[in-house]
Amino acid sequence: MKVRVLGCSGAIARECRTTSFLVDADVLVDAGTGVGDLTLDEMHGIDHVLLTHAHLDHIAALPLMLDAIASRRSSPVRVYALAGTITALKDHVFNDVIWPDFTRLPTADKPFISFEEIQVGQVLGIGNKRIEVLPAVHTVPAVGYSVAAGHAQWVFSGDTGPNPAFWQRVNQLDVGMLVIETAFSSRENQLAETSQHLSPAMLAQELDCIDAHQHYPIYITHTKPAETELIMSEIRQLEDHRPGSRRRAHDIRWLQAGQEFEL
Ligand SMILES: [Zn+2]
Ligand SMILES: [Zn+2]
Repeated sequence: MKVRVLGCSGAIARECRTTSFLVDADVLVDAGTGVGDLTLDEMHGIDHVLLTHAHLDHIAALPLMLDAIASRRSSPVRVYALAGTITALKDHVFNDVIWPDFTRLPTADKPFISFEEIQVGQVLGIGNKRIEVLPAVHTVPAVGYSVAAGHAQWVFSGDTGPNPAFWQRVNQLDVGMLVIETAFSSRENQLAETSQHLSPAMLAQELDCIDAHQHYPIYITHTKPAETELIMSEIRQLEDHRPGSRRRAHDIRWLQAGQEFEL
């Protein structure tokens, strides 16, 4: 299974795209602005879109992608999301005002997209992939995902604040790599708490929840372009000064668009 990072930035700028991952050729996890770098043929190959939540940085390219490929497709693109996310998309995006209602176009029988409601804990089988819906704690209904074709799981936190239920499940998985957000630097700790994201200090506490026998690379995502260096240096400082002899250093790296991972 191949995971290609299309976008992993907390905001846009030149060379910075928002959250989106292409898993093999047919599954998209979130549809941020990174999708715009795909060719028409690559977009055309996407049959399944898994959304973590309805925030714009994770769905911005979905309406535009559908418009680009709709006429070439003979079956609907399946969009998997929580009920609250689906309602938000129907009410605020595909509402015939911001964008056409592609659940009824070109006809209600053969629409360009179909929404598939998911729930936390659910396991989806898509082709040779096993996809589990993981909990997330955010200001709107949100999830993370673990995706695997073999044993090793690609685990993505989605947008989240502190999330004990996530670790409870992740500690039971055979994690190949973890992608976890750190949206704010420590000086914006308060904003991180209010908006239910993580700061480096909060991330350090989260990583303490990883079971001692687990060891896998941890990739940081969703940093804002202007804050990335600061956030990563704060994370390294916290790692270097971890109190207590029982604590161990984690293998923490910065995720970058264009990277590809084989799991
Ligand atoms: Zn969000
Ligand atoms: Zn976000």
